[in-house]
Amino acid sequence: MTHSTRSDDAASPDTITRRTLLHRLALTGAGGIVAAALPTRSLFASEGAGIETAPTSSFALPPIGTPADALRELAAGNRRFIDGKAIGPNRTMARLKEIAPKQSPFAAVLACADSRVPVEILFDQGFGDVFVCRAAGNIVTSEMLASLEFGTLVLGAKALLVLGHSSCGAVKATIAGDAVPGQISTLYHHIQPAVDLVAAQSKDGKPEIEAVAHENVRMQTRLLAHSSPVLGGLVKEGNLAIVGGMYDLTTGRVVMLD
Ligand SMILES: [Zn+2]
Repeated sequence: MTHSTRSDDAASPDTITRRTLLHRLALTGAGGIVAAALPTRSLFASEGAGIETAPTSSFALPPIGTPADALRELAAGNRRFIDGKAIGPNRTMARLKEIAPKQSPFAAVLACADSRVPVEILFDQGFGDVFVCRAAGNIVTSEMLASLEFGTLVLGAKALLVLGHSSCGAVKATIAGDAVPGQISTLYHHIQPAVDLVAAQSKDGKPEIEAVAHENVRMQTRLLAHSSPVLGGLVKEGNLAIVGGMYDLTTGRVVMLD
């Protein structure tokens, strides 16, 4: 879990106004990236035991009021998924209609756009449960940051997860550094700091893809925590946990980075 020092004024999601939000978004700029090697830990004891298609059910999630509750449900949902015991909560038409007037997601996730990383499925969630932002390489851009501030400050998500994954094409492409068509290379400069750090720490100077993917998640997580007074304020108030995680494409398992 990453904690950040708060430097903005306080307001609860219930009292925030649109004007105040826009003011805060305007104050939020790109911050420096602090890179450090961090140990990994697993929140999930179970290993992959076959993945089943989630059934459509009316199962309701337990009440989620704190960041710890939110992280616990993400962990529990991924465990259900990898154990083949997905319950497909909140996927009924009744749920759809219930939340149409107002959403209150318990978690926000910044994930890669990769088609093999469907966030609601791998965490066994449904309509209205997770506020998901996706971009190749799970990178923090101004638009992603603004969206995540909205999902947490205004909508009330209690956990913010940066989710990388194995065999990430954006990471591979950045390491290769080849000329690519269109705007694809725009992604590179967001991931290049992780490539450079891993290369500098390796014996042969060559960055290994999975190590870079891990480091990229750590860097993007720190960027969120330290560049946004809005997110930092929520963390300081105890209303938000910002964490990083890695999804294994072959097992479906998410390992949280401490
Ligand atoms: Zn990817």
